[in-house]
Amino acid sequence: MKAGFQILTNAGGAALDFAQLLVPSLRQTIWRGRAGDASVALTFDDGPHPIYTPQILEILRRHQTPATFFPLGRNVERYPKLIQKMFAHGHTIGNHTYGHERLIFTSGERVRSEMVKTSQAIQRITGQKPRFFRPPRGLSGWRALVLASRLGMQTVLWTISPGDWRRPPAGLIVRRVLTKAEDGAIVLLHDAKYNDPREDRDQTVQALPEIIRGLRELGYCLVTLTELVTHRRVNERRAINQ
Ligand SMILES: [Zn+2]
Repeated sequence: MKAGFQILTNAGGAALDFAQLLVPSLRQTIWRGRAGDASVALTFDDGPHPIYTPQILEILRRHQTPATFFPLGRNVERYPKLIQKMFAHGHTIGNHTYGHERLIFTSGERVRSEMVKTSQAIQRITGQKPRFFRPPRGLSGWRALVLASRLGMQTVLWTISPGDWRRPPAGLIVRRVLTKAEDGAIVLLHDAKYNDPREDRDQTVQALPEIIRGLRELGYCLVTLTELVTHRRVNERRAINQ
């Protein structure tokens, strides 16, 4: 990073502006919480889905487990009641773009509109602007990184990806999460498939209660991303019994 910064700063005014924007945005990117904090954040991307998201919400409610969702803007508009429910249950809701575009190959204007449309759709339902952004496929590119930061969002990737989107057996998803569990881990799961709503998420749904139980047995506290980052309980949650 330092070498890159040096080259950029030596390359003239425009590059200097670029570096001044990019470096703080990169610094804000989150892969995990703090070391020494025995917390884990479960995150669900690409939903909401009319079949699988309600099942996941019910499991989370039953196990008193707060989580974080990164829905797509187009699904937010399609299933506002599910977003409302996520929010009422105290989960954190982030921005995963409107239509899961490949941001690296998308124009700046399009990237911006993908982000803004999604944040607006979420805010219309919850009254709150998302403060976290997860780029589709984890590939942000410098433009999206800077834009997310300008729009007041921290870019969030993940620590553990058990590959649930490939639909391995539930037991394998559980084992992959539990063997890689560590302080501050962010776990990447999926409550829908971004380009095919017919694909099932049964394995993820089946794995979830075991993941929750297993992480707790290992001594981890399950938290939202907001809690993982701020290291404290926040007001936006704790209505999980409703
Ligand atoms: Zn995604």
